[in-house]
Amino acid sequence: MTTVAAALAAARAKLPANEARLLLGQVLQQAPAWLLAHDDESLDEDALLTFASFVARRAGGEPVAYLLGYREFFGRRFGVGPSVLIPRPETELLVELAIARVGADGTANILDLGTGSGCIAITLALELPLARLTAVDSSAEALRLASANSLSLGTAVRLAQSDWFSGLTGEKFELIVSNPPYVASGDSHLRSGDLRHEPSQALASGADGLDAIRQIVATAPRHLSAGGALLIEHAYDQAVAVGELLRAASFSEIRTYPDLAGILRVTGAVFAPKDEMPTNSR
Ligand code: GLN
Repeated sequence: MTTVAAALAAARAKLPANEARLLLGQVLQQAPAWLLAHDDESLDEDALLTFASFVARRAGGEPVAYLLGYREFFGRRFGVGPSVLIPRPETELLVELAIARVGADGTANILDLGTGSGCIAITLALELPLARLTAVDSSAEALRLASANSLSLGTAVRLAQSDWFSGLTGEKFELIVSNPPYVASGDSHLRSGDLRHEPSQALASGADGLDAIRQIVATAPRHLSAGGALLIEHAYDQAVAVGELLRAASFSEIRTYPDLAGILRVTGAVFAPKDEMPTNSR
């Protein structure tokens, strides 16, 4: 007969203790704290087999979030799977900046590009109850997950399949947010750790990682109302390049913000088209 304590002890050879507790908790549908108080509870054959398979998969590199089927973001639980990027704490900065821009009782019409699990759009819908949220993704699988998350968290986010702006012809928004893929395709991180198991279309974006951002920045002006803003998450070394792209696309008030780790992580700008000026006048 194997007890909770014995199963956790055996898993320690392959996994950190906290991961083993999370996975066993998932198998038994109990919180990790329950496990601490039930050390000598015995496990049935099914639970042991399921736990052994979780331990083997995690030891083989599969992300804990995919094995559990969820990840916390902004204090809420979002269902995740291999079709979507696992929500990351640094993306909470993007959400906080969007909330600050709109204001708690703002009525903005907001678009989230490449929504994945829906964590950004759904959080904004919950934090900004008067705002209207549209979230798009090119992946039908991702949209299914986002839709399930929207339902379980009780939001009315409008979801649509769209490759960036391709399905949004003629639509304008007051705020556009995005955590697009921005890792350079040659970056060795893509071939190590949890990133190996995440969808590459959510991570990698051309030789310098800026392909998606170039496309978004170039097209966003057609989909922003005058005075509307764009907020984009990017890599630690892309702030200058993203600022230049925004300037070239006639954005103003360009500002970059650091995440909690001090990394320049989000750049925002306002689209305020100027009246035509005669180019030769002095
Ligand atoms: N910040 C993520 C990472 O480097 C990348 C997320 C993204 O490409 N949007 O793991």
